[in-house]
Amino acid sequence: MSAAVSYERVRDQLSRLKLDTSLANLDGTLERAQKEEKLTVEVLDELLAMELAARFERRIETNRKLAGLPSFKTIESFDFQAQPEVPKATIEELSTLRFLHQGENVLLLGPCGVGKTHLATGLAVAALARGHRVYFLTLHELVTKSRVARERNRLGSFLQMLLRPELLVLDEIGYLPLERADATCFFELVNKRYQQQKSIVLTSNKSFGQWDEIFPDAALATALLDRLLHRATTINIRGESYRLRHRRQAGLATPPLNHGGVLPTN
Ligand code: ADP
Ligand code: MG
Repeated sequence: MSAAVSYERVRDQLSRLKLDTSLANLDGTLERAQKEEKLTVEVLDELLAMELAARFERRIETNRKLAGLPSFKTIESFDFQAQPEVPKATIEELSTLRFLHQGENVLLLGPCGVGKTHLATGLAVAALARGHRVYFLTLHELVTKSRVARERNRLGSFLQMLLRPELLVLDEIGYLPLERADATCFFELVNKRYQQQKSIVLTSNKSFGQWDEIFPDAALATALLDRLLHRATTINIRGESYRLRHRRQAGLATPPLNHGGVLPTN
């Protein structure tokens, strides 16, 4: 077979195998190989590596779109000096994602504005960059979506969908008390992920002791915390709100509601 026929066949086969990156880089790689007198095996190695790298990029992009992150925040953009309550070494250790491979949970507790969602999103971004599937939702979204699923008799497949990602972020536990059916669904989810050793990153403005207030009964809260805490890193952030601190440091008055809740008259 002539070289021209082989070349055409390679192009056609790459196209039919959907190896688009190899196809796009075929000419360049062959030319370089000729100039640099590379071996055939080196040419193949280069093309396949480019194909895999492009696939990985596409996978990250798809996972990123499906993750539903509320914003793009990274661990690198977290100002540890501004929040000395957050142990930098622990967060850096978590960024290695060892916790994900070991199916451990991360629980971020603290009042509003201290950076819980930022850190949770940062861990999610780190997981996405390494090719993991991630799903981010607030507890309120979990409740809303699970109610819709229940109405359509699809609660099972909804929960199944939440078991697939290697990392599930559950944000804002504690703002709303849960009705029994919603609390049961939350428990089922945590229990199933626990059984499958899949990680959850969770944030809450309530300490664990206050979780009884969120749940319709204390036994359910205890059972859920039991699963969550069995393999977990808990980070308690007691500091003040990042934005308020910045306003204060900039010499700006804090908003009126922080002065005894009295609103200005005009
Ligand atoms: P929380 O979820 O604890 O209520 P957020 O993570 O939403 O707080 O933080 C509120 C805002 O302040 C976000 O825009 C976040 O990026 C920012 N922020 C909070 N803490 C820090 C920090 N230490 N460094 C940089 N940005 C921060
Ligand atoms: Mg938050």
